Formats: sequence, C-alpha cells, structure tokens
Amino acid sequence: MSVSGPTSGTLVSSTPVNATSTPARPTIGVLALQGDVREHVAALEHCGAEPVLVRRESELAAVDGLVLPGGESTAISKLLQAFDLLEPLRARLRDGLPAFGSCAGMILLASEVLDTRADAQHLSGIDMTVRRNAFGRQVDSFETDLDFTGLDTPVRAVFIRAPWVERVGDGVDVLARVPHGPAQGRIVAARQGNVVATSFHPEVTGDLRVHELFVDLVRAAR
Ligand code: GLN
Repeated sequence: MSVSGPTSGTLVSSTPVNATSTPARPTIGVLALQGDVREHVAALEHCGAEPVLVRRESELAAVDGLVLPGGESTAISKLLQAFDLLEPLRARLRDGLPAFGSCAGMILLASEVLDTRADAQHLSGIDMTVRRNAFGRQVDSFETDLDFTGLDTPVRAVFIRAPWVERVGDGVDVLARVPHGPAQGRIVAARQGNVVATSFHPEVTGDLRVHELFVDLVRAAR
C-alpha cells in the first residue's frame, strides 16, 4: 500500500469549518435506473462530491444535484414512470435542481426530442430540441477533441450513438460544437441555468473537467 504524500489524511480533518462556508462535498445523485451509472459515480467521487444512487423519490429529495447517465433514453423514460420518479424529477428541475445529463441523459433533459418513441417522456430541463442517434450509421460512434466553454484546452469527447441539439431557446448557452467532419458545427453541449447536457460521455475518458464544472455549479447553487 502506498500513501499519497506527507499531508495525506490530515488535510480535511484539520481544516476549520466556518459557519458561512459552502460545504465541500455536495451530495450528487446519479439516476440509477439504467446506463453507465458506475462511471459517473467514480467521476463524481474524484471531483470531491458525495455520489448517491437515486431510484426512489426519497433519494431524489435528498440530493443537491443529479446526474442522468448515458444509456438508453427510452428505457430510462419507461423506468422513470415505473419508479414514480418522472413527476418528482420534473418538479425538482422546475425548482432549480442542478442537473447534468450525458448522451441519453441529454435526451431526457430536452424539451423536445426527435426520432424517439411516441410514448417517450422527457424532462424539459433545457429549452432545446434534441435528435436521437443523430450522427447516423457511418459515424455512429467516434471520438474527437473539442473546445468547451469554460475549459482552457480541448476536451476528449466520446460519442456513442449520440444525439445532437438542433435548436436551443433564448437563455441557453451553447458550450460545444462538433469541430469538423460531416456534422461540423452541430451543438453537442448546452447549458441553461443549472442544467448542463453533453451529447458525449465525459465519464468514460478520465478527463474529469466537465464533472468538475458541474460539481462547482452544484456547490454554488447550494
Ligand atoms: N442512443 C441512445 C438513446 O437514444 C443514447 C446513447 C448513449 O447514451 N450512449 O438514448
């Protein structure tokens, strides 16, 4: 076993907490109905958050922010209804709950979804129209580096049967676009208030800066 350095184990416990400071470890839920839950939990842990799995309304009520993972948006939509989470989650988003969705999570956070099932539900966390599986068969999974608002160097972006954003409303910030190729210019990351969505999967690359931005946003919102 190795230790990380001379201060290991002493840093947190010896730091005095003053009453007005923002707590250091926000509790961030990961919607754990389907998808790459584990990867988001690991990323959040590394970023100094306290990740918890969310499958019930009581668990949702206890979080400072929520991650909606990549996976299959139509399956997650069905499970949100089966677990009686759809309306409680809509309500928390209306009340300003910070949220981050990757890929299927982006689809769920949209206000309008193209190329989905007629009965699929979404959460309207961001005023945007998202097209599922938008990149088509030829390039349905690929990786690229892209500029991301708020990060000083490009982020490695992994796209897996990803959506893109076809329309954003007023008050939505575009954070990233496809840099080149047939889909050049397509919006692949957006933010409205405390809700962030990416077409790609920052949770699988080891580059945790998008999660860091989200954890900071949750801390600021508390
Ligand atoms: N194609 C999936 C969907 O429609 C999303 C894929 C993903 O999350 N990697 O939900």
